[in-house]
Parts: sequence; structure tokens; C-alpha cells
Amino acid sequence: MSADPNCIFCKIVAGQIPAKKVHEDEQVLAFHDIQPWAPVHILIVPKRHIASMVDVGAEHQALLGHMMVLSGKLMKDLGVRNGYRHVVNTGSDGRQEVPHLHMHVMGGPRPWSKG
Ligand code: AMP
Ligand code: ZN
Repeated sequence: MSADPNCIFCKIVAGQIPAKKVHEDEQVLAFHDIQPWAPVHILIVPKRHIASMVDVGAEHQALLGHMMVLSGKLMKDLGVRNGYRHVVNTGSDGRQEVPHLHMHVMGGPRPWSKG
């Protein structure tokens, strides 16, 4: 599925819901989390709808690698100097709230509101 009409992140990708974008390319969109846990808290999402890590297969290796490599560049661009944390929540036991694969990347000076 390339887009799910009921998916909030697909709507952000399509420009139907506003977001504070930090990066966009053919494969992914990155934007600031609306309820940040840390001074810098972004989400990197594939443009195509993939519900969660459970739905990822070998064909997505390059995409996931791209997301991971990009995360470091974006944190640097956003001025994060002392490290950052990646979180990917998967499914209900993983406390995933938005069923569109996303990588949280959080950094900036502590204290953070969570974690
Ligand atoms: P998760 O629990 O991993 O599914 O986290 C979903 C994240 O998406 C949460 O941190 C929310 O604050 C964030 N979020 C939900 N809606 C939006 C939105 N419209 N724009 C930016 N971030 C959002
Ligand atoms: Zn989606």
C-alpha cells in the first residue's frame, strides 16, 4: 500500500496535515514530533505506508539504512552535539500509537520530559 487514507502520517506526507518538516527526499519525510520528549525530537517516516516494523522485509533494507544514516545528519544539522536516542515502537506491546512506521530521534540538553 502506498498510502492509507486514514493514516495521520500519510496525511502529513501528502501535505493534508501541517508538520514542521526538517527533511524530505524521495523515500522519507522527517518532521518535529508534536509532543516532544526532548529539546530536539524528530520523527523520520517512510513516504510509503508501512504499518510497523512487523511489516518490514528484505526489500526495505535500503530504506531502513537510509533512515538510520539520515538521523545522524539531521541531528547534526539541528545542533545536537552530545548524543541522541533512537526509539522505534512496534505494535501494542511496543506502545506504538501511530500505525505508520516511524523512527523517533531525540537529543538536546537534559533533563528531558520522558526517558
Ligand atoms: P508512537 O507511540 O511511537 O506511535 O509515537 C507516535 C508519535 O507521533 C508521538 O510521539 C506523537 O507525539 C507523534 N505525533 C502524533 N501526531 C503527530 C502530528 N500530527 N505531528 C507530529 N507528531 C505527531
Ligand atoms: Zn501511513
